[in-house]
Amino acid sequence: MEKTSVDVVVVGLGAVGSATLYQLSLKGAQVLGIDQFTPPHTLGSSHGETRITRLAVGEGEEYVALAKRSHELWDQIEFQSGKKIKNRTGGLLIDSAEVAWSKHGAEGFWERTLRYAQNQGIEHRLPNVQELSATFPGLQLPAGSKVYQEKEAGYLFPEVAIQAQLDLAKKMGASIWTETKVKAILPQGEKFVVDVGYAKVVCKKLILSAGGWVKDFLPEQQRKQLRICRQVLYWVEVDQNFTDWKQYPVWMWGFGPNLEDFLYGFPSLDGKTIKVATESFLEVDHPDQLEREVSQEEIETFWETKINGRIQGLRKKVTQAVVCFYTVTEDGKFILEEMQGNPNFLWVSACSGHGFKHSAALGEVLAQKMGW
Ligand SMILES: Cc1cc2nc3c(=O)[nH]c(=O)nc-3n(C[C@H](O)[C@H](O)[C@H](O)COP(=O)(O)OP(=O)(O)OC[C@H]3O[C@@H](n4cnc5c(N)ncnc54)[C@H](O)[C@@H]3O)c2cc1C
Repeated sequence: MEKTSVDVVVVGLGAVGSATLYQLSLKGAQVLGIDQFTPPHTLGSSHGETRITRLAVGEGEEYVALAKRSHELWDQIEFQSGKKIKNRTGGLLIDSAEVAWSKHGAEGFWERTLRYAQNQGIEHRLPNVQELSATFPGLQLPAGSKVYQEKEAGYLFPEVAIQAQLDLAKKMGASIWTETKVKAILPQGEKFVVDVGYAKVVCKKLILSAGGWVKDFLPEQQRKQLRICRQVLYWVEVDQNFTDWKQYPVWMWGFGPNLEDFLYGFPSLDGKTIKVATESFLEVDHPDQLEREVSQEEIETFWETKINGRIQGLRKKVTQAVVCFYTVTEDGKFILEEMQGNPNFLWVSACSGHGFKHSAALGEVLAQKMGW
């Protein structure tokens, strides 16, 4: 049986793991990244063409610095890889709910976003509904809607970002094992042994960035902290005669008191469709139990309950529907903790639906916590 020895093993190479592997390699650590699939893939939480990025993150003021740092890092990664990862389109946050609208565990999400932007010097404006409807007639906003517009917001290409960081890490000497599932992690004195079945790896430090599958490694009490919630992304055909969807910013819109009274969307990348989605908090126990198919009935319900009466300039034709999932914590915050009090073994869960934009900086934080 093969036996390898490295400084740090990173288990899981999605958004967080690929960023961590890249940052550790950059700082000179001898690292091995392991994934059960071949990232970027379509079975975790980091696929689907685009992710929104914004700086005034209503989820928590403590995340603003991470978002800002990630923007700097995405620029650096673009420069080093020659790949386009970030597009600045500006972003809209719309609240037309009649009661305080909550999102990702943060009550009064719109007001928080505005407050954090003001506190943290983030460029923004508050256009009124008339102005917005004239510029972006696809969004049918009720009178009285509150609109926050941020200049630096935009979208990221998640698959490109992951691939770029893995490629750069490899160039700097990182080893990457794909289609390799970590079966067990065992302490061995001051070190750890990572068992992948066909080999055992000895490492001084370990980062578990396994997304929703992190539950496989947690004791019962901690498993319960994480809820696996299926999400569906829809690509809907546009009517370019009505409005030019290529010119739209990214947008998020809370329109009612329930968590699922929410829509978000992206500008059209191909001139033919836009990607639009809502959020769902129905849970399953484990990612392997997720229904990966999207039924015609589900598509119909999405159209009738979310799109109809709110978005114009779309044809009632969904060209593609893709399943992804959130790993949701009770308060919507990320978890970055020592496993059983061991500072050399960290586990991280940075999903809850808003983790991608922070992942570049989280990789840097994790590398620092590992002493690099
Ligand atoms: C539909 C959707 C929309 C989203 N929109 C946004 C957005 O607009 N903006 C934003 O900032 N965030 C958004 N998010 C959240 C963001 O995408 C996630 O926070 C982030 O991608 C999570 O990355 P991760 O690395 O934690 O998990 P993953 O990408 O799932 O990576 C975990 C990896 O671990 C591997 N793995 C697991 N177990 C093992 C094992 N035993 N052995 C080896 N490998 C293993 C898996 O194969 C996987 O590759 C969205 C998420 C979803 C699902």
